[in-house]
Amino acid sequence: MGEFALIERFFSDVGVRRADVQLGVGDDGAALIAPPGMALIAVCDTLVEGRHFPASSSPASIGHRALAVNLSDIAAMGAEPAWALLALTLPRAEAGWLAKFSAGFTAAARAANVALVGGDTTRGPLAVTVTLLGFAPPDKLLRRCGGAAGDIVFVTGTPGDAARGLELCMGAASVGDGAAALRRRFEFPAARLALGCGLRGLASACIDVSDGLAGDAGKLAIASGCGVRLDVDQLPLSAALLADVGRERAIGYALTGGDDYELCFTVPASQLQRLEQHLPAQQHGYKRIGQLTRESGVLVQRLGQKIELPVTGFDHFA
Ligand code: ADP
Ligand code: MG
Repeated sequence: MGEFALIERFFSDVGVRRADVQLGVGDDGAALIAPPGMALIAVCDTLVEGRHFPASSSPASIGHRALAVNLSDIAAMGAEPAWALLALTLPRAEAGWLAKFSAGFTAAARAANVALVGGDTTRGPLAVTVTLLGFAPPDKLLRRCGGAAGDIVFVTGTPGDAARGLELCMGAASVGDGAAALRRRFEFPAARLALGCGLRGLASACIDVSDGLAGDAGKLAIASGCGVRLDVDQLPLSAALLADVGRERAIGYALTGGDDYELCFTVPASQLQRLEQHLPAQQHGYKRIGQLTRESGVLVQRLGQKIELPVTGFDHFA
């Protein structure tokens, strides 16, 4: 199978059909009609085999994650996703692998109302880059920088699960019976798109949690010119993670483990009632975990006492 047959077979009709796509896959470029008055939000993330996912990953998971990690950035901006471009580097053209990869990508794209409108296909060590475009009202973007001291800090989901899930995918032994659920949290993250859009005009700042909650909350705090206090006793830890590693280690995974693709956001205390009215915590799965502080830095507190973290956040070149 040559390059062009491969594109035609696996990538010419992926995701939803959108009326705002004048030209999709097949010409030299895509022609896209952006809605007037909206800001075009552009994000791009790469997954490299052996670095962002283990070589043993299923092709469906790689396809899903390639889009999901970008959907998470779009969600963190308070934007609605629309169009994706896929740059795929493959060691070989294997129909079975490609069919599963494409199916994983397609399912994630359909769920998010995204059309695949173009890309590039090359031979080399397995790496997947997705560029994702979406829209948001220009005066209502969620930024990292809008928080103020005193704002309440929230996180969605149960951070730490994906980091432990990755270890389980790589063969770590599990003692709990939640191992399959933890692996799934790494393999098939679900971006918080509805919450991201809902937080427009409500959240003062927002970031997606991909490199460890403490580090990413710290980035939000720095951008907002504040510090952040995280209350360990408030962390939402999943039953599966607790059963697998116990409370002490679970706290470490939740604060410093990567690959969650959840949202961390801040809301001024005066807006808490509106938050609960418009976006019930029950429905959107977020929890209060701390507060922005006047003093800079990340303060992790347990029963009122400061505790130290081994690492904060992932850095490819650290
Ligand atoms: P060019 O030679 O101009 O770079 P290509 O042959 O790479 O064009 O691509 C042909 C068409 O297929 C283009 O519309 C391109 O966007 C699309 N395409 C290539 N690879 C992919 C892919 N992996 N996923 C989606 N579309 C792709
Ligand atoms: Mg090309």
